[in-house]
Amino acid sequence: MTGKTHVSIGIAAAFCAADALAIMPGAEYILAAAVGSLLPDIDHPSGKLNKKILPSSNGIDKMAVYLILAFLAGYLYVKDSGMGSMLYTVPIFLIVAFSKHRGVTHSILGTLVFVYAAYKIGVETGKESLVFPFAIGYVLHIASDIFTSGGVQLFYPAVKRITLLKAFKSGGSGERTLFLTFSLLAFYMAFKVYFK
Ligand SMILES: [Zn+2]
Repeated sequence: MTGKTHVSIGIAAAFCAADALAIMPGAEYILAAAVGSLLPDIDHPSGKLNKKILPSSNGIDKMAVYLILAFLAGYLYVKDSGMGSMLYTVPIFLIVAFSKHRGVTHSILGTLVFVYAAYKIGVETGKESLVFPFAIGYVLHIASDIFTSGGVQLFYPAVKRITLLKAFKSGGSGERTLFLTFSLLAFYMAFKVYFK
């Protein structure tokens, strides 16, 4: 599934949650949902985020860059630079460095690691409320990948890929319909939340 489809689903759901819970979502709330929606695919060297970060789209570059980031984060933590939450980014960078596509980042275990790190960073920066839309985006990314033909390693470290219906092929017409539907839903919910 492409990044923009994941983002449309995550943002639509974040608006629905805001509506249900009477939250007035700011730009940061929407951005957190979008980041959560894209983050699981950071395991792919040519994923949307990695295209911006990596010098080229191959596994070796991905491993090298994320190992350096893990080292830097560990260094900042040990140096006691006032960024204690850096400690929680180290396992994330290591996971990304070594993971295969739709492996640990698309699992229950990976979700717990990423959301917990986001929570720790949120608490340190006074933005813990953003963990909520972030988690919505992240969880729904995995939930929607389950309906693709490739499936996900939901119960990592178990290698079995979980897939339901095999309804969507990346970039196929089914996915385009999904993107359109959720984009419309996101606009509708945004209108409802801001102008009702
Ligand atoms: Zn994915």
